Amino acid sequence: MISTLEVVDATILVIEDEADIADLVAARLRSEGCRVHIATDGERGVTACAGLSPDLVVLDLMLPGLDGIEVCRQIQAERRVPVIMLTAKDEETDVLVGLGVGADDYLTKPFSPRELVARISAVLRRVNEPAPSERFRIGSVTIDVAQRTVERDGDPIHLTATEFDLLRALTAADGAVLSRSQLLHEVWGYRDGSGARTVDSHVRSIRRKLGDGLVRTVHSVGYALGVPDA
Ligand code: CA
Repeated sequence: MISTLEVVDATILVIEDEADIADLVAARLRSEGCRVHIATDGERGVTACAGLSPDLVVLDLMLPGLDGIEVCRQIQAERRVPVIMLTAKDEETDVLVGLGVGADDYLTKPFSPRELVARISAVLRRVNEPAPSERFRIGSVTIDVAQRTVERDGDPIHLTATEFDLLRALTAADGAVLSRSQLLHEVWGYRDGSGARTVDSHVRSIRRKLGDGLVRTVHSVGYALGVPDA
């Protein structure tokens, strides 16, 4: 399992209307050394996020009032904050990634607090990682690793942090094929290889934004960088 060191001292906002889950999550995160604030509906969540400037938000999809999708949009509009979205079904993740909701990771209920801590840790490690100063140009797409920006035909394209890291991993592989489990390990920090659907969902989203050819599917193996459509 991943070291939980990355979560120590982090300020985490939990937006969840189910008190049992919110309390369980908060207790576990506090035991890991985090400062935790709970908001019990979407509007309170948006307000709390603006006031707290948390390091990460754990956001339930199904909330009274503003739902998780709307909350995610509103808090991302203020400032780039990592979000882990809690969903009721695996299939929802596909839909949410397709919508470009902008969460960094998704966790399906029921989940163990330990799993959540591992996911939070992986997301915080990724966003805090110092980036090398590298720029890649692949066809019409330019990737600036240090600035974490992507342009297509000179136009800035917004990728989520996860989409960016997936693209960076494929770029670093320099055309070599990476399996879904390699990508899960490199990008999400997972060790057990589950969550292949998550990789597929994010690849679809990257293709939607940057063209179908940039990431090619290598049948029954995984993904590799391709030459994007002109
Ligand atoms: Ca709920």
